[in-house]
This record gives sequence, C-alpha cells and structure tokens, in this order.
Amino acid sequence: MRRSKSFLKTRREAPADEQAKNAQLLIRAGYVHKEMAGVYAYMPLGKMVIENISNIIRQEMNAAGAEELQMSVLQPKELWEKTNRWDDVVVDNWFKTKLKNGTELGVGLTHEEAVANSLKDYVSSYKDLPVYVYQIQNKYRNELRAKSGLMRGREFIMKDMYSFSRTQEEHEAFYEKMTAVYMKVYQRLGLGDITYPTYASGGYFSEFSREFQTLSQLGEDTIYLDQEKGFAINKEIYDFKNIEKLGVNKETLKEVTAVEVGNIFPLGSKYSDPLGLYFIDEAGQRKSVIMGSYGIGISRLMGLIAEHFSDDKGLHWPLTIAPFKVYLINIGPEPEVNQEAEALYRLLQEQGISVLYDDRLERPGEKFADADLMGIPYRLVVSAKTLAAGGYELKNRGADTTTIVAKNSVIETLASGQKS
Ligand code: ATP
Ligand code: MG
Repeated sequence: MRRSKSFLKTRREAPADEQAKNAQLLIRAGYVHKEMAGVYAYMPLGKMVIENISNIIRQEMNAAGAEELQMSVLQPKELWEKTNRWDDVVVDNWFKTKLKNGTELGVGLTHEEAVANSLKDYVSSYKDLPVYVYQIQNKYRNELRAKSGLMRGREFIMKDMYSFSRTQEEHEAFYEKMTAVYMKVYQRLGLGDITYPTYASGGYFSEFSREFQTLSQLGEDTIYLDQEKGFAINKEIYDFKNIEKLGVNKETLKEVTAVEVGNIFPLGSKYSDPLGLYFIDEAGQRKSVIMGSYGIGISRLMGLIAEHFSDDKGLHWPLTIAPFKVYLINIGPEPEVNQEAEALYRLLQEQGISVLYDDRLERPGEKFADADLMGIPYRLVVSAKTLAAGGYELKNRGADTTTIVAKNSVIETLASGQKS
C-alpha cells in the first residue's frame, strides 16, 4: 500500500472528547474513527488489525474442530422469552427495536438462544453430536458507561463459540481443551506471558466460569493470582469457601489488576431445554443437549494491545497482528533513491513481506513520526546516505538504534525477523 494513494492521515491531537488512551492513539494513527461514545469505525489499517486478530482466532477454532457460521443480529423476542432473558430486569443492556407493525425485536448481544434454536433443524440423534460452532460478529450492548475506548464498546466485535455435547463428560473434555486453545490464542497475540485462566462467577448453572484475564493497569477487574499454579480467582468470587474449594494457599495469592479478554461458560441444558433442543440417545431415550459458550473480545483485544504496547511515540504492534510488517520510507529528491525505493517496494511485495510505502513528498521527520505512531514493527529507509553506506537503514519499532542492511540480505533479514 502506498501512502500517496491512500486517504489515510495521522493527526497530532486526539479528539477532545476521547478520554481513553487506546482510542486516542488509534484515532491519531488513523486506525479508527469515533462515531460516538462506545462506537468506533475501523479504517483500513484498523480493519487489517481486526482481521489479523480474527484470523489467528479462526485458525485455532478451526483446528479445535469448530465450524464458522454467522447468525443474524436481529433477534425475535419469542426465543428470548423462552429462556427468560428478554425482560430488561433480567438482562439490562439490551438494544431493542420494532418492526413497522409494532413487533418487538432484539439486537443481538450474545447468541446462545439463536444458535441452539437453529440447531433444532440439524440435530436429532446422538449421531449428530457433538457440534461446535462459532462466529465473529459485531455485538450490541447498551453499556452504562463506555469510557475505555475500544475496551468497552456499545458496538464491539466478539468471537463467540457454542458447544453442544451429549454428556457432561463430553462437554468437560472440550471445555478443558478450549482453555488450552484460548491460551494458545493469547500467546499468538503476544499476551501469553501476562494472561491467566481465572475462576469467575458461573451464573445460574455452574459453580464457576473461566475468564481469561490479562495483567494490565488498564483493567476493570481485580484478580488474585497464583503465579506458580498459573491461574487466578476473580475478586467477585474471592471468599473463604471458594479458596478452600479451589485448593489455593491464600498466602501465595497476589492482588492484581487485569483485563477480561475472554470468558468460557459451562451451560448445562439451561438454554437447550427451554428451546426444545434434545437428542435421542443409543437406547432411544430423549436426552438434554449439554451446552457451553466461549467468548473472546476481539475489539477489546485490539484496544488493550494498542495501549499496552504503546510508548510516547505511539503504537507498537506485535508482528503477528501488525497491519504491515515494514514501513518503507524514501528520502530525498534524487531519482536513484526513488528508483531504489520503488524496486525495494516491489521486491518486498513479491517476497510476501507486507509493506506500507511512505512515498509522499513529506519531510523525513514527518515520515519517521508516522512510522512510529502507526506502530509498524520494522522501518526501512532508502536515502542517498544509506545507499552510500551499502544498503538500507533498518530499525525495529522498539529499538533506539538503526543498522544498515546490505541490499542482498534485506529479504533474508526481514523474513527471519521475529522480534520487533
Ligand atoms: P464484561 O464483564 O467485561 O462486561 P462480559 O462478561 O459481559 O464482559 P461476555 O459476555 O463474557 O462479556 O463476552 C465475551 C468477551 O467479550 C469478554 O470476555 C470481553 O473480552 C468481550 N466484551 C464483553 N463486553 C464488551 C464490550 N462492551 N466491549 C468490548 N468487548 C467486550
Ligand atoms: Mg465475562
């Protein structure tokens, strides 16, 4: 992508009404546009980051045997009445709307009901189970306060998966497997070292649910971390009874602030029974379908990663989700420099190294500042000076120093570069 051909612009100041640093940075760097409090639009680079995060999640969900689908955002009230989740007293963050004839509709905030109901068309026998399905979709929740930028939106992007099992044992095996799969996802997103499975409130059906909490000052949650055992307990359920039950030593727990980046729930037949989703087992008996649900906050992760890895110059994406690997800059009016930069731009693309080429007629300082603000992992500069020194100047976004890479080793250097 060429900066000269793109409408993208960076800006020095964030909008005055934007309080959250993640949104301030993302707006300044041109990744998102603020529509209103808690509602953001994704500009091309922002969309690329969302897609990169989504694709990591997709790969891991597919590898775990799940199938991707897409449910509707508009939801019939009747489904939710069956599970007693329509009433605003029970679920207080609905967005609801009406058809012209007055029929009430819900705007999807989660999809247990919709997915379970749709599976009635496909599941009737034990041979049809288990089923694992997921979607990546915008969710709508009328959050009381939307003050943390992308981290708490009224419209946000979530991956939600639903499991349908024949027995509690079959469910539990998958639930445990998903814990490991989730950890792999956070690892690939660069958050592996600071993310912990966390016991949290289970709601009506089960004793506990499992949250995935990333240690960060930006969080709204307080958790008690057992670093050695590699898990935590959410403050919301931190009491004598649960400490005892989970077999942890109170002395070794550390109170820390964290961000909930995912949550998985055992649901039993809480939703499947009232919706009438059953199956016939080997003995010809009608049985309940055992469900689980598994969420990951994709746009929250983008906000968290944006802010968590930022510095005073701007963003700094992990390589795995950066919109481009390389920010290429040409400096100087010399035709040789431009020819070299053009050739390098083509070469990088041919070699499958994603590159944002800043070919604008801007001052070098302006281009350097944009490379930093946009947080692209590698900066490559072509100028008369670098050519005289034998190649191009390379800098990692996180480093203070630059190096000259020879022309014939630039691809090798960038292709192998894992650290940024
Ligand atoms: P929270 O406790 O933060 O309000 P939740 O428990 O209601 O979240 P879930 O229904 O479990 O959220 O949703 C799955 C995941 O979606 C959460 O773990 C979180 O990462 C993300 N998420 C939830 N609400 C929002 C929101 N308003 N904006 C952005 N991401 C969200
Ligand atoms: Mg949750």
